[in-house]
Amino acid sequence: MSDLLTNLRTYIQELEPQIVAWRRHFHQHPELSFHEEKTPAKIADILRGLGMDEVRTGVGGRGVVATLRGGQPGRTVAIRADFDALPIQDQKDVPYKSTVPGVMHACGHDAHTSELLGLATILARHRDQIPGTIRFIFQHAEEELPGGAVAMVEDGAVDGVDAIFGVHLWSMFPVGKAWIGTGPIMANADDFIIDIKGKGGHGAIPQETVDAIVIGSQIVSNLQTIASRNVSPLDSVVVTVGTFNAGDNFNVIADTCRLTGTVRTFLPGVRDRAQERLIEIAKGAAAMLGGSAEVNYTRGYPAVINTEAEAAVAWEAAIETFGADSVERMEPMMGGEDFSYYLQKVPGAFLFVGAGNPEKGATWPHHHPRFDIDEKAMAYASELLGRTVLGYLEKHRS
Ligand code: MN
Repeated sequence: MSDLLTNLRTYIQELEPQIVAWRRHFHQHPELSFHEEKTPAKIADILRGLGMDEVRTGVGGRGVVATLRGGQPGRTVAIRADFDALPIQDQKDVPYKSTVPGVMHACGHDAHTSELLGLATILARHRDQIPGTIRFIFQHAEEELPGGAVAMVEDGAVDGVDAIFGVHLWSMFPVGKAWIGTGPIMANADDFIIDIKGKGGHGAIPQETVDAIVIGSQIVSNLQTIASRNVSPLDSVVVTVGTFNAGDNFNVIADTCRLTGTVRTFLPGVRDRAQERLIEIAKGAAAMLGGSAEVNYTRGYPAVINTEAEAAVAWEAAIETFGADSVERMEPMMGGEDFSYYLQKVPGAFLFVGAGNPEKGATWPHHHPRFDIDEKAMAYASELLGRTVLGYLEKHRS
């Protein structure tokens, strides 16, 4: 084992005050998705100071990508952190609370960036021991569609990369533990709006109308058959109609009706099928009853699907970082993440690191106005990512 791997934890511990200082700086100066300016500029400054071989800014818009060539030949492995904040008023009572009204790092992206800057610092200092190349990807706009990842990928962020890894800290999981999953771990998260057109009229003269509420009801009932009749019982799909709006008065037959909802799936084929059937059912039910339906279907981020071999490398690294009793198999969750776009190009794994701690007030869910993390989680995440990428390069040593 290299000196770097042996001493990785010590090096990170020595750097922890700096990682925390960076995180608190970003936390106090959050910037919204697609409006990040000072954050990527600061990240690029820090990376240039580390003597990276290359630092690219404005990647895919506002992203920053740095390349560090190790002292020995080998593969290229990427690590991604995101850096945007949310339109939420910070309600925490801490010295490092947001100084920007209505904007807050309420998902921990400030920490993702800081822990990766910390790891970059250490890897740059010990580059002679690295058997390959490491690409550091700092991504803007994870929180808002279409997301920063898709544009960064188009702009070459993962060109020449053999594998990619990333961590999401999670306040609902206790600090000192990690969750690693294989296969689909986060969902395709799509939205839809169905606008039904009927023909309104008197509530007592139905024969002269086309009732938009009856059409809407048929659609809602028939959408249930996507899960029960169109998709394999072994695959996951959720079709939820969240709103149903129609009608103005008790004795008037509604002219129009609007349904909105969400479709969550894991597999691309199931996603295509659910979308196709949703449109057919809406249009078909409306036509059958003499009306019409227009469907506006919006695809959110695709599912995050970890590849088996890379998840296994991360699993080994997690056991070394957290101990065998503190690593758990990640169950899929129906939330979305644009890390999926990198995984559509290269193999890799998205990992979860616990950041919750009631003693430090880190008990609130992500996107909550009082969201916070136990900052110790950052050192854990740096170590996990460090051991994962070094383990990967070692395994594929040329
Ligand atoms: Mn997030």
